[in-house]
Amino acid sequence: MSAKRFRVAICGGGIGGLTCAVALSKYPDIDVYVYEAGTSFAQNGPGCGVWLRTWNILQKLGLDQDLAKIAGTQPTDDPVSTFSFRKSDRAEGIDFLQLTTRGGLLGIHRSDFSRVLLQHLPSTYRTHCFKRLLSYRQRSSYPGPIELVFADGTTATCDVLIGADGIKSSVRRSLLREQGYRARADGRQRDYDHLLDSVDPVWSGTLAYTAVISAERLKARAPQHRAFDQPTQYLGKNGYILVYPIAQGKIINVAGFHTRPGRENTSFAGPWIRRTERDELLSAYSRWEPEVQVLLECIEKPSQWAVHTSKPLNSYVSGRVVLLGDAAHAMEPHQGTGAGQAIEDAYLLATLLGQWRTTIDSIPHALRSYDAIRRPFANDIVRRNRLTGNQFMFLGDNFDWDNCPDDILRNRLRHLGGAIMNNWDWAWSTTIDESVAEGIRML
Ligand SMILES: Cc1cc2nc3c(=O)[nH]c(=O)nc-3n(C[C@H](O)[C@H](O)[C@H](O)COP(=O)(O)OP(=O)(O)OC[C@H]3O[C@@H](n4cnc5c(N)ncnc54)[C@H](O)[C@@H]3O)c2cc1C
Repeated sequence: MSAKRFRVAICGGGIGGLTCAVALSKYPDIDVYVYEAGTSFAQNGPGCGVWLRTWNILQKLGLDQDLAKIAGTQPTDDPVSTFSFRKSDRAEGIDFLQLTTRGGLLGIHRSDFSRVLLQHLPSTYRTHCFKRLLSYRQRSSYPGPIELVFADGTTATCDVLIGADGIKSSVRRSLLREQGYRARADGRQRDYDHLLDSVDPVWSGTLAYTAVISAERLKARAPQHRAFDQPTQYLGKNGYILVYPIAQGKIINVAGFHTRPGRENTSFAGPWIRRTERDELLSAYSRWEPEVQVLLECIEKPSQWAVHTSKPLNSYVSGRVVLLGDAAHAMEPHQGTGAGQAIEDAYLLATLLGQWRTTIDSIPHALRSYDAIRRPFANDIVRRNRLTGNQFMFLGDNFDWDNCPDDILRNRLRHLGGAIMNNWDWAWSTTIDESVAEGIRML
């Protein structure tokens, strides 16, 4: 067996962490360990939408055939009619945009996604469940490995630590404290305050409701409902609802969002995820058009998610420790691109670590190149998601959407449709290739 260049520990076995492990497996001279806090790698949570930009990366990693099998389809480069948009917070909705994208949106069940990623890990990789990282210790310069401290009292060492441990990341907490102590030692008190202020995620002011409906149940109430064959986004003031068929049309997936203006960046009282009652949903969208009401009435057990985000960081890197995915940039889910961004981070980071030029001594340089490329890009996607949320919920302008003449409303909606497309089309009309080439050049 060839000598190993260095040891990488990935903390967090979600979509970002496991994708990074798969991407690193292309470089057999890197030793990889994965530590996951949960009792298994199976992911719960809402279905995960994948756009063409992300799909292209999954293809490069050789995951596309297996993922296409479980999704029952796979994207092509062709234009696809993806979602129709309606203004629905009124007695009679108005259609205003048919969104056509390259490749469409591929819906993948999260637990299936993790299963495929795990199947693609080499048998030599050591994956550990039930290993919750508490913190790490690293010396400011090599030699000396990074020491990992776990909640069960055990420790481990590595040469690179990748924090892929999600929005409540322990790695981010330790990393920001480490950067903070450095700032204080240099007399940069404002930086210190900013760093410590960025440790905890904040509530976006938005609640998400997720549910599935059996197509049979909806058919009994509304046999011609558009949700059977037309993925639709119903938009209105302060909220929107996304519906599309899954499981060969046997199930209708529903995700509703409802925002409390003025509550952005506050802390949320109560559990972030909980079961709730259908009545809560019905009251959130009470004045919406009848085809929305009938959908909501068919829901049995919705879950409520308090959507949290992290504050933008000044760096994803400290020494030989680096963040990816939600640990680095938890964003609102309005464009369906948070996991896609975790996958982009994972692919670029693994590619840079994998280059022969990256040695144990030059790891910090490779990590800084990753940071220089990914951080501005991800920050821009955070901003775009926020803007999409505002567009979907008729926020962020003073236009009176409810009390204007019909022709002005329709004209305004046409403009809104164009703005929605412009802000979102990066997800299906661009690729990561230039960023990867730039990262390799920087090495
Ligand atoms: C309602 C909703 C809908 C969404 N829809 C989409 C979508 O359609 N498309 C899309 O791309 N994105 C979507 N997202 C965003 C997406 O879910 C996240 O961006 C993505 O899951 C982030 O992946 P990750 O691997 O970085 O983090 P996570 O998925 O959170 O994984 C982190 C992992 O780390 C583990 N962990 C946590 N702490 C520790 C610790 N201390 N030690 C060890 N392990 C630890 C956790 O158990 C977990 O397995 C949506 C989000 C929401 C809320």
